[in-house]
Amino acid sequence: MHRKGLLYIVSAPSGAGKTSLCKAIIDILPNLRHSVSHTTRSPRPGEVHGRDYYFATKDEFDAMADRGAFAEWARVHGNCYGTALAELEQARDAGWDLLLEIDCQGAAQLKEKCPEAVFIFILPPSPEELERRLRGRQTDTGEVVEERLRNARVEMREMFWYDYLVVNDDFDQARQQLQAIVLASACRTELLKEPVKKLLAEFGL
Ligand code: 5GP
Repeated sequence: MHRKGLLYIVSAPSGAGKTSLCKAIIDILPNLRHSVSHTTRSPRPGEVHGRDYYFATKDEFDAMADRGAFAEWARVHGNCYGTALAELEQARDAGWDLLLEIDCQGAAQLKEKCPEAVFIFILPPSPEELERRLRGRQTDTGEVVEERLRNARVEMREMFWYDYLVVNDDFDQARQQLQAIVLASACRTELLKEPVKKLLAEFGL
């Protein structure tokens, strides 16, 4: 049954485990793809242009923003990040569901533009655990960790307008919850009204 591709918007404070959880469900669900964002931040070791991000200069990013090439964009931790409209169009044309890992400012922009998208917020189980996870990443300086902890407090205030909340205490349980949200959202009556018409006709309805 052919239905429209869905957009899943996932936000979380840095260190909540969003990227690992998203990767885990993308590995399992064949129709679900990861949206590749544009960013002005430098690649981290191991990151690949076009797979993890499209790395752009500030001038390139600004030029895209000026010509309205982004569905949403925001400044996060001192860098610019954005989802190109072309990324959404490509998924729509291919019939894929798309998972966007983006911050709350970008999510709020899409809430206006894409009311049928599914908004999911991932929470750390406690401030102590969030700090432990952030300090455990060898890649960030103490200053960066402090900034991310401050930002986490700001971002967590946003969670109440999201459709679903997942607390990432036990990874497997959080993964199951995220997977359940994704699968259940794809069965919403509103989404299947059109595709189910042919089936109804076969029943003479
Ligand atoms: P990182 O630099 O750690 O990969 O990402 C930093 C933050 O930027 C994360 O909260 C991530 O979700 C957010 N982010 C990544 N891509 C986008 C995007 O396209 N748009 C917005 N608004 N935020 C993004």
